[in-house]
Amino acid sequence: MKLFISRPMTAAVEARARAEFDVEIRENTAPLSEAEMLRALAEFDVVVPTLGDLFSAAVFAKAGSPRCKLLANFGVGYNHIDVSAARAAGVAVTNTPGAVTDATADIALTLILMSARRAGEGERLVRAGNWQGWHPTQMLGHHATGKHVGIAGMGRIGQAIARRCHFGFGMEVSYVARSDKALEFPASRAASLTDLAAAVDFLVVAVPGGAETRHLIDADVLAAMQPHAHLVNIARGDVVAEAALTEALQQRRIGGAGLDVYEFEPQVPQALRDLDNVTLLPHLGTATEEVRSGMGQMALDNVAAFAAGRDLLNPV
Ligand code: NAP
Repeated sequence: MKLFISRPMTAAVEARARAEFDVEIRENTAPLSEAEMLRALAEFDVVVPTLGDLFSAAVFAKAGSPRCKLLANFGVGYNHIDVSAARAAGVAVTNTPGAVTDATADIALTLILMSARRAGEGERLVRAGNWQGWHPTQMLGHHATGKHVGIAGMGRIGQAIARRCHFGFGMEVSYVARSDKALEFPASRAASLTDLAAAVDFLVVAVPGGAETRHLIDADVLAAMQPHAHLVNIARGDVVAEAALTEALQQRRIGGAGLDVYEFEPQVPQALRDLDNVTLLPHLGTATEEVRSGMGQMALDNVAAFAAGRDLLNPV
């Protein structure tokens, strides 16, 4: 069984992969090129791809009937893989749900607080040597405790964010999802995304990416938000219409935004970078040693199940 891993991994994950499998671990940290994807599909039984490795229908069409039978994705989001094209080519897909939940929820809270309390702007002020000292009306932001948070996508991560907002910050929680959720804290399901956007102080995006949710947060949703409200996106960049968001921020039609992901990642438009009312993080959602190791172990658990002929643990 030959395994290909498309990026360097944490030491623990690489050590296990080398101990258990005949593995090639690519050293480059950039996404796979099409030629690399076709080689991986042709020459390996299992591939561990990740964000940015665009296994599109066109790639599977060129691959024909590949040797590869499993893409054990490193990450819970798999919108970079055309799952139905993979299936048609005889390639199963797994992901790493759960391993990423708390870390990503923590980054959502980081962004809520940074955006509301102007933390990025304040840090830049101090770093530039321009801070003139404390005074009663210096850099007033928005209070977060006790406010109303709206979660678009009340799944694993959405619920972990809501739990933090309710128990940690005494917030009222509302959400939209495709189905009702039984939760251990009070939360109301809004009739529509626009209703949710209009009602809340913080709108947090936690839906999966892909065709179904592309530009879910569009100009209409942004227009429905209150002028003091903040948008936080920890999901996928193209869930938010980035041009419409940039315009809303430029015209100060919303209070601010906190972004971990971008529509054309890793490109972040200059127009966004020029704005002080947006907090920009480089896709840090799961970026801790233990979480990245946990994700890698979960991906390798799926590889091991495949190698042993057992049922896959996290099929998508
Ligand atoms: P999940 O458990 O599958 O939750 C997704 C939620 O979105 C579900 O509640 C689902 O509703 C809801 N949903 C799906 N389509 C919707 C739509 N069109 N309108 C409204 N709600 C919709 O997934 P998760 O584990 O929470 O992960 C969510 C996403 O976060 C991942 O897919 C990934 O792209 C992203 N993520 C980002 C980072 C980062 O580093 N920033 C890290 C990890 C994950 P139902 O439950 O009713 O089906």
